[in-house]
Amino acid sequence: MSRVALVTGGTRGIGAAISVALKEAGYKVAANYAGNDEKAKAFEAETGISVFKWDVSNYQACADGIAQVEAALGPIEVLVNNAGITRDAMFHKMSPEQWNEVIGTNLTGLFNMTHPVWSGMRDRSFGRIINISSINGQKGQMGQANYSAAKAGDLGFTKALAQEGAAKGITVNAICPGYIGTEMVRAIPEKVLNERIIPQIPVGRLGEPEEIARCVVFLASDDAGFITGSTISANGGQFFV
Ligand code: NDP
Repeated sequence: MSRVALVTGGTRGIGAAISVALKEAGYKVAANYAGNDEKAKAFEAETGISVFKWDVSNYQACADGIAQVEAALGPIEVLVNNAGITRDAMFHKMSPEQWNEVIGTNLTGLFNMTHPVWSGMRDRSFGRIINISSINGQKGQMGQANYSAAKAGDLGFTKALAQEGAAKGITVNAICPGYIGTEMVRAIPEKVLNERIIPQIPVGRLGEPEEIARCVVFLASDDAGFITGSTISANGGQFFV
């Protein structure tokens, strides 16, 4: 039996690695994205993974998108809430738009995506929800009050929902990546990356998207059935909770 997995933001960066790793592990995978059609179509052509476009910050768009995925592939059994954005600014310069966009995608997006699949998972007595949070939600990061708040919120959401899902066969876990070499991180000026960020990482390098993807494949598996409400910190030793 091959299970159905949906990965938000699954066409680029960490999400793309997760989509591919789940496919290689035998899942039927759908990858959602927001607007970068060119990248998504190239990903679909290269991997054979179906891509679906909607904005995770919009509840109705999520409900409609999920219905479309389920009509194409079957009931969603594994949901990976990976889509995320940054709108960095020091707090005194942060606009309400920068705050609301990041909270809307990175935190409310988890409600919008999880709520429409939750009842089906309860009815079928099986589900895996895997939320991609961040080291900066664990420790806070200057210039990212919006992002740190959203990602810390993701961890609270994970722990609360884990308690609700446990008796229904649904596990809910989070992964907190440290700095991973994706476009989001490569957008940081090279000088800052080499002189300020990499020296803070004890293993001496950025993480690879595939290193996060392998954590997801494990949490999605039957082997991880006793793990719920947990956070995997995958950060090269940069921060211990
Ligand atoms: P990227 O910027 O490389 O990719 C982001 C993906 O999310 C894209 O597929 C994008 O779609 C999609 N996306 C963005 N906004 C929305 C939205 N509103 N609705 C649907 N899809 C959306 O990000 P990363 O791979 O770097 O990050 C993935 C996750 O990991 C994020 O949650 C991020 O916060 C987290 N993370 C990343 C770290 C890193 O070092 N890179 C460290 C810690 C956490 P499109 O292509 O259409 O724009």
